[in-house]
Amino acid sequence: MAGFPIFVEMGKRPPLVVGGGELALLKARLLLKRAGVVDIAADAVCASLRELAASGRVQLLPGHPDEPIIRGRPLVISATADSAEDTRVSRIARAIGVPVNIPDRPELSSFTLPAIVDRGTVTVAIGTEGAAPVLATRLRALLEAELHPRLGRLADIARSYRERVAAALPSARSRRRFWERALAGPAANAILRGNEKEGCELMDTALSEARTSADHSGHVVLVGAGPGAADLLTVRAVRALKSADVIIHDGLMGEAVLDHARREARIISVAKARGRHTRTQAEINALMITFAREGNTVVRLKGGDPSIFGRAGEEIDALRAAEIPVEVIPGITAALAAAATLQIPLTHRGIARSLVFLSGHSASNGTLELDDVELEALARMPATLAVYMGLATARRLAKELVRRGWSPAMPVLAISHISQDDERRVLTSLDGIGDDQALDGLSGPTLLIIGEVASLNASGLLNDHSRAARQHQQESCYHTA
Ligand code: SAH
Repeated sequence: MAGFPIFVEMGKRPPLVVGGGELALLKARLLLKRAGVVDIAADAVCASLRELAASGRVQLLPGHPDEPIIRGRPLVISATADSAEDTRVSRIARAIGVPVNIPDRPELSSFTLPAIVDRGTVTVAIGTEGAAPVLATRLRALLEAELHPRLGRLADIARSYRERVAAALPSARSRRRFWERALAGPAANAILRGNEKEGCELMDTALSEARTSADHSGHVVLVGAGPGAADLLTVRAVRALKSADVIIHDGLMGEAVLDHARREARIISVAKARGRHTRTQAEINALMITFAREGNTVVRLKGGDPSIFGRAGEEIDALRAAEIPVEVIPGITAALAAAATLQIPLTHRGIARSLVFLSGHSASNGTLELDDVELEALARMPATLAVYMGLATARRLAKELVRRGWSPAMPVLAISHISQDDERRVLTSLDGIGDDQALDGLSGPTLLIIGEVASLNASGLLNDHSRAARQHQQESCYHTA
């Protein structure tokens, strides 16, 4: 079972290492990174431990410690190279509830030691439950290179500001906003460059600005979440998700996208679901307005891009009418994600000069909302059609297009759950859609691409190189997950 990571206070009694050899020395050195003094219980100790004892960092105790010696320790590590002795120490410690570790003996240990990236006040602990120590070492090397050496100083200086910030900014939300900006802004940069005086001056300025402008009004960010894969979010969308107090989403995106939310954020689904009251657009607008008026940063998270069949227009109108500031962050719309995963262009010299985003939504089941004029216009245009919400009406649309002169052989790609694990693709034709079973395997959000471009990479579609390449990419950069 996965161990729960915590940081343990080095309490009144020093931590205890049992054993006096090289392994015990290594463990003592590790503990000395955080403990002022380490006790060593051993009948004989190596030269380096003796030196540490002479410098006062290590206290030497007799070997074979009994219960009173072990009791009250923040933790005990037994590294005696004597299995019976390690087992005895483990038994005593566990019986009296003192955390104990025996190197390479998980069955005798109640905790494991992580690989550590040490930046003073900032510590990163990496654990693999002993499954892959080399992986932990590799991750540590990556993080060592990634984390600024002065990160600990930045944390120390932040700590020295905590009381002043608390006094200046009484609301938890405005404090969080201040820290988010301060830790990513010029003050932090100056501190990391080693210029602490300048950094503190900039921090003072930022704090007095935050105090005077302490805006209590919330705002709403319409965020495009892309087609579902967490790594198809924009950097700006991730930033918005991380700073949101409330996230209102409509269920098109995968869980991984919502993993970017803060733990305290309130997450509300307004997804259409069977057996549950579906919120009307007016109710969703009211929800956003209420939360924003309470001073929250509200993220209205939408699949794909908010401006494409996302009711962004109505929401922006309602927010403006309520005088709530609104920001829009674009996302990758389904048609673009489909083109990427299928490796086809949506425009192509000599084949398609224009692209039409079309809604296949039906007014009352089965009938297209498109009127004759629109269909006539489409029929005359050598465009690629990207049809959203068009699975239920696909057959009807195909018939109408053929009736107005499109070739029955015109290729159609239908793709569902784009960019997600259950992505499915079907290559057919306008004529082919007439076949009852043509689109049977598809369900959930599905996009149709109709036009010559759909046949451009038919072999790629079947071989699915793109997914293999993506998987390879994901596997080789697990550290960016
Ligand atoms: N704003 C969204 C579209 C919302 S309308 C965007 O820009 O993508 C909902 C329709 O979008 C679905 O019926 C489907 O046609 C399409 N869609 C959205 N996400 C999809 C996905 N991951 N896979 C396939 N189609 C998707």
